[in-house]
Amino acid sequence: MNKVPFITKEKAQEIAKTYPTPFHLYDEKGIRENAKAVKEAFSWNSGFKEYFAVKATPNPCLIQILREYGCGCDCSSMTELMLSKAMGVEGGDIMFSSNETPAEEYAYAAKIGAIINLDDITHIDFVENILGKLPETMSCRYNPGGVFKMSNGIMDNPGDSKYGFTTEQMFEGFRILKEKGVKNFGIHAFLASNTVTNEYYPILAKQLFKLAVQLEKETGADIKFINLSGGVGIPYQPDQEPNDIKVIGEGVRKVFEEVLVPAGMGDIAIYTEMGRFMMGPYGQLVTKAIHEKHIHKEYIGVDACAVNLMRPAMYGAYHHITVLGKEDAPCNHKYDIAGSLCENNDKFAVDRMLPQIEKGDYLVIHDTGAHGYAMGYNYNGKLKSAELLLKEDGSVEMIRRAETPKDYFATLDCLDVYQNLEKEF
Ligand SMILES: *Cc1c(COP(=O)(O)O)cnc(C)c1O
Repeated sequence: MNKVPFITKEKAQEIAKTYPTPFHLYDEKGIRENAKAVKEAFSWNSGFKEYFAVKATPNPCLIQILREYGCGCDCSSMTELMLSKAMGVEGGDIMFSSNETPAEEYAYAAKIGAIINLDDITHIDFVENILGKLPETMSCRYNPGGVFKMSNGIMDNPGDSKYGFTTEQMFEGFRILKEKGVKNFGIHAFLASNTVTNEYYPILAKQLFKLAVQLEKETGADIKFINLSGGVGIPYQPDQEPNDIKVIGEGVRKVFEEVLVPAGMGDIAIYTEMGRFMMGPYGQLVTKAIHEKHIHKEYIGVDACAVNLMRPAMYGAYHHITVLGKEDAPCNHKYDIAGSLCENNDKFAVDRMLPQIEKGDYLVIHDTGAHGYAMGYNYNGKLKSAELLLKEDGSVEMIRRAETPKDYFATLDCLDVYQNLEKEF
């Protein structure tokens, strides 16, 4: 897949006059087209809803765009719930899929009417104690253990993951929930991450649909929805074939008709909680080359660092890089592209073949729209960047300003130091 920057060098120069680099830039047109395609791919299921995983890109301006295509919010923390509520997302449009959940977060989720997706069987009592009475609708997260296999091999290792109920616990949990008055049931599972294949959802769906049939039969629970959660990936590498959401939707339809319809369960709603697939390709981190260093290797120092995009430092993740204005130049220089943290893993690329880079060049780091800005932190006292939206008409809107030193110091309680700092703001 050809990785194309959203902007030209000239446009980057123009934007940088108002909003200095680094910044995350999001492409409204791409977000809209993809959200529409997701909606259409599952339109065969009348109850379908995508609950956007807020943690991937917690910016209300972007989530509002998804709302226009019927998306709800999938939250995993208090602040994500608060943000969704403040955006006017109501009740059943919020899914609360959390783990190791604090009591006050369950209480708040219930108060705003979010659907609670339990991560563990012991949370049934935990939630009942908090709320007095369980909500009428509840979901349980499933973890079958073992490894998750597809035709191209092992995809992930649920047996090693901290999430969910075992198969036995699903049956026991549903019985207990039913006894305690729960009326509407949901099943959720997230068994493999960033899958770049059209097979993942259909294989997962088949497993969950079969489980649903058994659960209804043995516990009498009325299953209303099956939540395929996230995990649909994007091609970070240019030679990877992107997922085709239409093919994925059809694949899920096929197993739905094979397993659920004959069991008389054809009215079950399909939910998803995609984050990466909804937003990942539609964000790019724009940064400027500010240093060139020749030691044992060739380095280009840029004004962004792992604070702006943590995935390369944290997982060694590949993010494609384009040098603006040199899109067609030969990639005949081998560089490490380094940020300024005092951490040797603060590199956006290692031994990457790129065109010759000069100081002042703009680099576009691709696919930063999900788990990009959001994962940022403040190590080395580095400040988080702005987020900008490239609108369909070509104009640029700031949808989050860059942090300032004042933001960074705002939580300090050491008054005399803070007063000295204030003179510098
Ligand atoms: C992270 C997460 C998602 C989103 O995952 P993506 O890989 O970004 O699609 C969805 N649901 C839950 C519970 C998650 O933790």
